[in-house]
Amino acid sequence: MKIIAYGIRDDEQPFVKDWATQHPDVEVTSVTALLDEQSIQQAKGYDGVVAFQQIQYPDAALQTMSDFGIKYLSLRNVGVDNLNPAKVKELGIKVTNVPVYSPEAIAEFTVTQLMNLLRRTKEYNAKAANQDFRWAPQISKELNQQTVGVIGTGHIGQSAIKIFQGFGAKVIAYDKFHNPDVEAQGLYVDSLDEIYDQATVISLHIPLFPETEHMLNAAAFQKMNDGVFIVNTARGPLIDEQALIDALDSGKVAGAALDVLEEETRLFNQDFSGKTIDYPVFQNLTARQNVLVSPHTAFFTDVAVKNMVNGGLDNNLSLIQTGTADNLVTFN
Ligand code: NAD
Repeated sequence: MKIIAYGIRDDEQPFVKDWATQHPDVEVTSVTALLDEQSIQQAKGYDGVVAFQQIQYPDAALQTMSDFGIKYLSLRNVGVDNLNPAKVKELGIKVTNVPVYSPEAIAEFTVTQLMNLLRRTKEYNAKAANQDFRWAPQISKELNQQTVGVIGTGHIGQSAIKIFQGFGAKVIAYDKFHNPDVEAQGLYVDSLDEIYDQATVISLHIPLFPETEHMLNAAAFQKMNDGVFIVNTARGPLIDEQALIDALDSGKVAGAALDVLEEETRLFNQDFSGKTIDYPVFQNLTARQNVLVSPHTAFFTDVAVKNMVNGGLDNNLSLIQTGTADNLVTFN
């Protein structure tokens, strides 16, 4: 059995090696190139393809893959939005993903960034770099005094709730579908408006769908408490960035931690050192002392990366051996 894995980064390499050692019957080839029309040529003779990339999977690469007789594509991440569903269905390619690789990684980073906002570490670090060690005026806030509105109580939202509660914060939650554990604790409110009305911190943990795009827009910000803090480790387009800028200008929003941005694929996980970035909203946000922008790094831990690599390879092997796998993706 032969599996070819695309877009393998240096940090993934040791996990691929470990997996291959544990599966001596499988020949695993790691390729650093992303999956495209050229790199797919290397897949000839393989039984399955493993991949992970933020950019679109080209239809032509899927076509060549299918022409080579390869019917199995296992992604090492959750999202399948950069695959053309019509093409996948036309070619009869079976696709798997890794839906859960470490909710704790994202939840812990969410709380880390919230703490950085509340304790104003960006301002203190900037001052300290200039040998200004005075306390004032950066008086901080305590998490145990906050009412955290968690929007989305899936894997990550639930993990975040536990950590927020560990700090002594009051948690309220909103989700279209109620989780029994969260329900049993009586954390749910009935509407987003109740979250906006009560929360002093809002943390987003829902997927991006047409209905959730720009969920936090000017009208939503207007309904929130003055001085609210916003944390988004979910998806950039959940927030209307211009509306956020306006809300920061007015003081409605006291601070924001953004691990995801509307146009992040143009920037994140790429080196722009010494280059000009043409994304005025990004410049506006990053220049602010009360805004933390991180490059979609919440997931990036040793545990999560290992689980993504193992999940992709396990799924692909299962497809090759049995024609199916636990994490088969259904395309509508
Ligand atoms: P999940 O599927 O376990 O949970 C999502 C929750 O959102 C579900 O409970 C669902 O019922 C709820 N939901 C869906 N639509 C809703 C709506 N319109 N209103 C209210 N609730 C709604 O997903 P998860 O694993 O917890 O991930 C949450 C999000 O985190 C992902 O969708 C992804 O966007 C993001 N994420 C970010 C990173 C990162 O590195 N920053 C990594 C992984 C995932």
